[in-house]
Amino acid sequence: MLQSKLPDIGTTIFTVMSRLAQDHHAINLGQGFPDFDPDPALCRLVTQAMADGHNQYPHMTGIPALRRAIASKVQALYGRSYDFDTEITVTSGATEALMAAVMAVVGQGDEVVVLEPCYDSYLPAIRLAGGTPITIALRAPTVEDPRFRVDWQRVRDAITPRTRLIMMNFPHNPTGIILQDNDLDALERIVRDTGVLLLSDEPYEHIVFDGQSHRSLATRPLLSDHTFVISSFGKTYHATGWKVGYCCAPKAMTAELRKIHQFMVFTVSSPMQFALAQYMSDPQPYLGLSRFYQAKRDRLVQGLATSRFQVLPSPGTFFLMADYREISGENEADFSRRLTIEHGVTVIPVSAFYREPDAPQSNHSLVRFCFAKKESTLDAAIEKLKKV
Ligand code: PMP
Ligand code: GLN
Repeated sequence: MLQSKLPDIGTTIFTVMSRLAQDHHAINLGQGFPDFDPDPALCRLVTQAMADGHNQYPHMTGIPALRRAIASKVQALYGRSYDFDTEITVTSGATEALMAAVMAVVGQGDEVVVLEPCYDSYLPAIRLAGGTPITIALRAPTVEDPRFRVDWQRVRDAITPRTRLIMMNFPHNPTGIILQDNDLDALERIVRDTGVLLLSDEPYEHIVFDGQSHRSLATRPLLSDHTFVISSFGKTYHATGWKVGYCCAPKAMTAELRKIHQFMVFTVSSPMQFALAQYMSDPQPYLGLSRFYQAKRDRLVQGLATSRFQVLPSPGTFFLMADYREISGENEADFSRRLTIEHGVTVIPVSAFYREPDAPQSNHSLVRFCFAKKESTLDAAIEKLKKV
């Protein structure tokens, strides 16, 4: 008899909500992807790479030119010098890097501390590796303090001799929160005390608003010596469908990650890598990304101010959360479904990022809007949301 390794896992919420949006011709502010194209210059570089004959298996760890480009960017922005040869691996999106990192270091009976709400691939990855996820909920927003916050003391207290890894993601999907210096200080104390390994999922590294900057774990030597730093070109270059990401980690950790990577996918699409390597020589596209998305965030915030949704602050990512308590007492999943079906706008229930989406403690009357959309899409959605 077939025995499922993930018996309680269905289709991801992003796919479920995108399909619902399609079925009901709703405006899709759910799944996180832009409704506009990458820079045509980048697309031309892909075509050129194919014409130039870059169509066979590239190097298993990623083409050297792309790994060098990643190394220079990380050095310039975060001050950590990773050896492109032994410490940087190009992966099939951040998702593959996450799975490979977890598979590389987590074994039967190991514990992995995860901050919740979290991206939906984390818990299945841990379980497939034989590990036990220990979820620590972020402190939920209150009227006086309308932000999710990390309680690092609770994270510290969750660490046992069996803890192998702490998984985190800042700028954070779905809450948008970012790290401050004192968060990195707290993490350093934890690493100094326990020697635990870290996984820092940073695909929104270039989307941080209001003049703040992203604190990569690569900025602190003690942290980066213990961390798989993972990112993705999908969010940075408006190309989520290309599925190219990367992982930077010390040599010994990278060596283990590559053993998994070579048997999961072996390597990553060749023309995309050649194009990205060239395109990265200009830092302007990623340096300008925060400003580009801040205008979209502000447009949606202003639009929602005329509705009954209460917007929470979004300091980073291309998501923002809104409280719908003035509109309905339903749980988040039911409200999100109804918003699509009756009002023609699709969102993601924040509860879907919790281990127990239906539990009361996972429901805070919050939905997530993705604002990586054309102005016309945002405006059309706002018109509908005003009427809710
Ligand atoms: N981590 C987080 C926090 C994400 O939001 C996403 C989705 N964009 C991923 C990982 C996966 O990224 P990719 O599409 O590059 O696999
Ligand atoms: N990261 C995207 C989001 O949070 C979705 C990725 C996916 O669909 N797997 O919406």
